[in-house]
Amino acid sequence: MVSRVIPVDPFDLVIFGGTGDLARRKILPGLFRRFCAGQMPNGSRVIGAARGEMDSAAYRAFVAEAIAEFGGGRACEDGTLDGFLERMEFVTIDARGENGWSDLVALMRDDVVRAFYFSVGPSLFGDLAERLTKHGLTDADSRIVVEKPFGRDLETAKALNRDLAKHFDERQIYRIDHYLGKETVQNLMAVRFGNMLFEPLWNSQYVDHIQITVAETVGVGGRGEYYDKSGAMRDMVQNHLMQLLCLIAMEPPSKFDPDAVRDEKLKVIRALDPMVPHHIVRGQYEPGADAPGYREAVGDPRSRTESYIAMKVGISNWRWAGTPFYLRTGKRLKARSSEIVVVFKELNHSIFGEAGEHRNELSIRLQPNEGITLGVTIKEPGPGGMRLMNVPLDMSFAEALGPDGADQTDAYERLIMDVIRGNQTLFMRGDEVEAAWAWTDPIIQGWEARGDVPKTYDAGSEGPVDAVQLLARDTRVWRKVAP
Ligand code: NAD
Repeated sequence: MVSRVIPVDPFDLVIFGGTGDLARRKILPGLFRRFCAGQMPNGSRVIGAARGEMDSAAYRAFVAEAIAEFGGGRACEDGTLDGFLERMEFVTIDARGENGWSDLVALMRDDVVRAFYFSVGPSLFGDLAERLTKHGLTDADSRIVVEKPFGRDLETAKALNRDLAKHFDERQIYRIDHYLGKETVQNLMAVRFGNMLFEPLWNSQYVDHIQITVAETVGVGGRGEYYDKSGAMRDMVQNHLMQLLCLIAMEPPSKFDPDAVRDEKLKVIRALDPMVPHHIVRGQYEPGADAPGYREAVGDPRSRTESYIAMKVGISNWRWAGTPFYLRTGKRLKARSSEIVVVFKELNHSIFGEAGEHRNELSIRLQPNEGITLGVTIKEPGPGGMRLMNVPLDMSFAEALGPDGADQTDAYERLIMDVIRGNQTLFMRGDEVEAAWAWTDPIIQGWEARGDVPKTYDAGSEGPVDAVQLLARDTRVWRKVAP
């Protein structure tokens, strides 16, 4: 396979929050990997901007440490790191005050793409947007990148959209959902819209149901305080799972163009059925052998926030009416695994009588071991009549695509390069985010009004028993949570 590095124009990328956890773990190592791949043209620079006092030399040392710890992946030539660090600058800046802004103005250049990454809490988005324009740092071609969480409900998301819209056009705003940058997630679109094979069957006539699972083995860790105010619904379902649902359920866009794709995703969100309480199971993990339970981890013995959620979702449109989508996500589960499974219907008539199952399943594994498996029915080998069995047609990206397939570009690298290229396809539009909150809000408000208490589940299990019953009521079963 030929690896293709698509050139981008020279850029100045300012990372507000350039000393934060996200910059250290994802953004800076990701940029380094792009540099190693030859995708950071001469004259491009990365400017860290944060509140702490630091000079550019100290920032370079900080970046070198971040790369040593989180760089991973691609091997670089000796000396490459120095070349990358030479592109680094730093300004001490206060998003809420005037300190440092004139330094940033002095540093920026006119003849390159200007991008501003807001890797700070959302409470600073409005301040940053305002000061960027006030100091003349942006023009009609400048881009801003904003991190999740984009609000905690419809009202706050609308307020953020309004704050940004005062200073920027929608085509300048890149709302990150890093799930959309994952190679396999994009492959969902390639599989659906690049093959004749699946699309004719991709509807309620042939699809029995669809399962979307994002399972984590980690608990809330050091994010306990933040997480407890959010929960799985806000942290995972409203954004990541919703995006996966959109990609699997949307109509084919007329072309692979940012607004065409996002228009179709928006239609899916708007067609979601309102949720009924008995179609949702919330869970909270219990203490494990060597790890605290959820309530201990967040420091609130009475917390009612969910670390797990399973739900049955309906989409009221011609394609999907009658086909349930089962979504689940949780922390401290048995395995780290993200997977989408399309379960096709039984044959409407089997010429083989009762001699085995006749159900096809298409499984798209997002992580780990990214790949696609299609379960097909064949004859069991050997004499003794016509017995049927299911076998997987298994395509692991690592095996099928060789080293280039295994060494996949991290989501953040890809998304940052898309920002520089000016391609918004893999970013959420403002109306999409609002529609997702409009659907999620009544669910969360219902829990609050009813004082809903999550079910407990064992750490290292597949989630609460009630989640098994959610599918059992429909005579269906979850796929095993397995790596
Ligand atoms: P962090 O607390 O580690 O870092 C915050 C950064 O913002 C620091 O560089 C700090 O100096 C800077 N900052 C704070 N107040 C400032 C001010 N008034 N003026 C200028 N700079 C200021 O946070 P983080 O974990 O890096 O997260 C940043 C954003 O990314 C948050 O919105 C978070 O929700 C989001 N996010 C983080 C992760 C992650 O893995 N850390 C994942 C997804 C989304």
